[in-house]
Amino acid sequence: RSKESGKNNYQVFNQAMKTGSLQKLKMESELRRALQNGEFELYYQPQMEVSSGKIVGMEALIRWMHPTRGIVPPREFIPVAEESGLIVPIGEWVIMEACRQNKKWQDEQLLHVPVSVNLSVRQFLQPSLKEKIANMLEITGLAPEYLDLEITESMTMDVDFATTNLLELKNLGVQISIDDFGTGYSSLSYLKKFPIDKLKIDYSFVRDIMSDPNDAAIVATIISMAHHLHLEVIAEGVETKEQLTFLDRNRCNHIQGYWFSPPVNSVQIEELLHSRRSEVS
Ligand code: C2E
Ligand code: MG
Ligand code: MG
Ligand code: MG
Repeated sequence: RSKESGKNNYQVFNQAMKTGSLQKLKMESELRRALQNGEFELYYQPQMEVSSGKIVGMEALIRWMHPTRGIVPPREFIPVAEESGLIVPIGEWVIMEACRQNKKWQDEQLLHVPVSVNLSVRQFLQPSLKEKIANMLEITGLAPEYLDLEITESMTMDVDFATTNLLELKNLGVQISIDDFGTGYSSLSYLKKFPIDKLKIDYSFVRDIMSDPNDAAIVATIISMAHHLHLEVIAEGVETKEQLTFLDRNRCNHIQGYWFSPPVNSVQIEELLHSRRSEVS
């Protein structure tokens, strides 16, 4: 009997695996189609200077406008794109589109702040990344200091490779940020080796700063360390006035989060900018 149920378990497991990989294959081909059909869209989330309330940057965040499933968030397809390698052409589209949009907003005198894009591991490992970015800056006419590349600590494990790679990227004149700072396993020593401009304090620390003294201590310490290292620092996932006050008191100059604005599409960003402009004048 036990033998039989063991066999059943195996079949169930095997079936589940098949479904899993079939689903992945299906999504892969859908992603390929999505890229061809232009189903991806960039949403933008403004980054705010606490002292002035001014917009100081925008993070571009990809959305998949699926013809039947509606808006698919990145956590549902980026892992499959990453695994299949499709993240490389998708990521290139993201950089190109972010540069194009940012240049357009500058030309229209709507906005003169950098755009941040998320790099994936695969993209970061591509030897041709630097040339590709140089090309996209040239084609779109965007000045390099208006492009901010967000990498994560997981990409810095091979310190020698990361140092060389980042120096080459930095030589283009772009900015470099460490995203989700504090969640990786890498040693802090890279902070003095890498040519980075900014630390983004991960949402998971910011979330509970009002209730968890440990998180409050971690956030305050990251901010202080960033200042000592002459790095910019921004807190992600700021949702409440109380969090904002805490961050301000601890001298975190920049924030990003629902408190100011969720990520929205380019039309909504333009509306936001127009309304703020008429407020000022
Ligand atoms: P991330 O780069 O850390 O982006 C911040 C995420 O936090 C975004 O989720 C944003 O919508 C969310 N967020 C912002 N403010 C708040 C807040 O106040 N509260 C809460 N709970 N969440 C907030 P999103 O857009 O779903 O993106 C998730 C992740 O997907 C990103 O995390 C990034 O790692 C990845 N991703 C997004 N776009 C791209 C892309 O173009 N390429 C690559 N490789 N990855 C991307
Ligand atoms: Mg990011
Ligand atoms: Mg982040
Ligand atoms: Mg995050």
